[in-house]
Amino acid sequence: MSIRQISSFAAGKWIAPGQGARQIASAITGEVIASAGNDALDVAAMLDHARSVGGPALRAMTFHDRARMLKALATHLGANKQALYDLSFDTGATQSDHMIDIDGGIGTMFVFASKGRREMPDGHVYLDGAIEQLSRGGNFLGQHVCTPLHGVAVHINAFNFPVWGMLEKLAPTLLAGVPAIVKPATNSCYVTELAVRLMLDSAILPQGALQLVSGGLGDMLDRLQMQDVVSFTGSADTALKLRATPAILRNAVRFVAEQDSLNASILGPDATPGTPEFDLFVKEVSREMTAKAGQKCTAIRRIIAPEAQVQAVIGALSERLAKVVIGDPRLETTRMGALVSQGQKRDVLDKAAIIGAESERVFGDPDNFDVDGADAQKGAFLPPMLFHCADPDKAQRVHDTEAFGPVSTVMGYRDLDHAVEIANRGQGSLVASVITRDPDVARTVVSGAGAWHGRLYFNNRDSMKGSTGHGSPLPHMVHGGPGRAGGGEEMGGVRGVMHYMQRTAIQGSPDILTAIGGKWVPGAKEIEGPAHPFTRRFGELSIGETLHSKSREVTLEDIETFASFTGDTFYAHMDDAAAKRNPFFPGRVAHGYLLIAFAAGLFVEPNEGPVLANTGLDDLRFMKPVSAGDSIKVRLTVKQKTRRNDEYGEVRWHVTLTNQDDEMVAEYDLLTMNAM
Ligand code: NAP
Repeated sequence: MSIRQISSFAAGKWIAPGQGARQIASAITGEVIASAGNDALDVAAMLDHARSVGGPALRAMTFHDRARMLKALATHLGANKQALYDLSFDTGATQSDHMIDIDGGIGTMFVFASKGRREMPDGHVYLDGAIEQLSRGGNFLGQHVCTPLHGVAVHINAFNFPVWGMLEKLAPTLLAGVPAIVKPATNSCYVTELAVRLMLDSAILPQGALQLVSGGLGDMLDRLQMQDVVSFTGSADTALKLRATPAILRNAVRFVAEQDSLNASILGPDATPGTPEFDLFVKEVSREMTAKAGQKCTAIRRIIAPEAQVQAVIGALSERLAKVVIGDPRLETTRMGALVSQGQKRDVLDKAAIIGAESERVFGDPDNFDVDGADAQKGAFLPPMLFHCADPDKAQRVHDTEAFGPVSTVMGYRDLDHAVEIANRGQGSLVASVITRDPDVARTVVSGAGAWHGRLYFNNRDSMKGSTGHGSPLPHMVHGGPGRAGGGEEMGGVRGVMHYMQRTAIQGSPDILTAIGGKWVPGAKEIEGPAHPFTRRFGELSIGETLHSKSREVTLEDIETFASFTGDTFYAHMDDAAAKRNPFFPGRVAHGYLLIAFAAGLFVEPNEGPVLANTGLDDLRFMKPVSAGDSIKVRLTVKQKTRRNDEYGEVRWHVTLTNQDDEMVAEYDLLTMNAM
């Protein structure tokens, strides 16, 4: 069999392995299948290429341009995923493991593409939070904005998810507008290399946006500057070593770390044998132990059950684990494949021995188990191994030893506070799950354990059909955890994009803030358009373009007609004495909805035109009641424009209603879809 030469992609060129290359063996057969690494890689040129070519090209695009680029990349990878599956078996992964890694990675990219379009502006500056009033008169305001870092993101990934691990970092980085240099773990870098080749060959990315290091990083980290970011996933030991790089410390280079984690799952006191929750617990734990042969950062390492249920849990889990077919991951019947390498297998056995010194192995014998279709010794196979720790209070190593394989330990708890205490002894984890239907249990765990865990996952019979699994980090939710889990955070929707941007507090006048954010700020200049704004197409409207309506008197008859027409005969509109007893009203007042309806009557242009639909109102506030005899008028201003496609875009209008004394009666944002 020929040995694959796994290249790096540096400064626009593919560089084959050379001096210092490492050989990579198949997890299934132990044979050498690939070679990667080259000591002569010019890492300085790579950094320069990213900073001087990739960064400017990405920053010239808007968030929406980059979101569309991510969608195109994800679509392209999806169309070619069979090639990734085919290659990935050699890492020991089964087809269902591929679904997590390859399909999961592509899905993550799609989510960022869609969030970028829906939650970020079609511009270059992301507005973080609302305008802050810094002066009485409203002529000096504050706004936080985020802009892309001008450096490069160096992504260092663990071996277990060669595709997802890259894409979950790459998607928010590119969406932010920052170029990336990806360094996968050498053991599985051949899969990442193919995914990178597919993306580069698609010609969807601008030059310099993505580079790849297969093998060692050389002295790249010593060359990092204050605009660069490192996003690391791997073991706590490596993280400690890398984050202590003098250049990283000296230049305050951001270092986002996702490390190992002694994740726990708690069986709720209510989830006794015979309940759907008990069965669900056993199913989730066994899945987490065996998916990716337990090589998942989120896998359940500690199984925390009421003392009275410990034997039942061991019995039910052992029964389920006994059915797991171990073998060549290419076989359809295989449920658990191999670990990534012989080295990883040895490491897991060493860690299992440490755990075993404080607990008893109750299931799985690494010296005696069946492997289908492969040689158990040549491949890096192990059986699932379940331990029971009878005294979790006295034990120490079961709470701090991560056997990164199919290994987990059952421990009993006396009461819920004890369960929380045991879960927190992991000193910071990525995820803890609780299988319970009791809301009090859930509340107690959140207040007792929230600060120790990046994610808390509750599941029971009501949610299990739609639930996503204890071990699945989702692009919408933050992934990361405190303490030993690294203290970092990734994904979580737009939050994940912010790791690659700088937040800056901006202070200035309404006109200055409008110009910076591309969003009209109350108090900024109003522009008088050449015609009614509803007659103007999306592209013709300017930010700040304003319509002032005529005024209209609101009569008692209007209020009564509206009340009888809609059925809204709330006393504040109908009964003067009762309304007066209310602290908010001077007497009978007009319905808020009547005012909104009158406002529309005052500002619309009735004829068919570029306004296609009213799609909603945001931030509606009624500030002052309107009584019969008062009159209202409207100011309608183009606040923000967001292109949706070639045919139409969304216009956000800022609307204020004022009374005859120019006092603000109501304020809201109106959303319309306008033809291009
Ligand atoms: P690792 O040995 O710490 O390696 C992680 C990465 O660091 C690899 O790409 C490795 O490259 C690189 N690396 C090691 N030494 C380096 C150095 N001196 N300079 C630059 N890069 C260096 O971890 P692993 O064995 O790949 O992964 C298993 C660990 O990752 C487990 O502890 C697991 O819990 C953790 N993990 C955490 C998450 C999470 O999201 N929190 C996800 C997955 C895995 P080489 O392969 O070339 O050495």
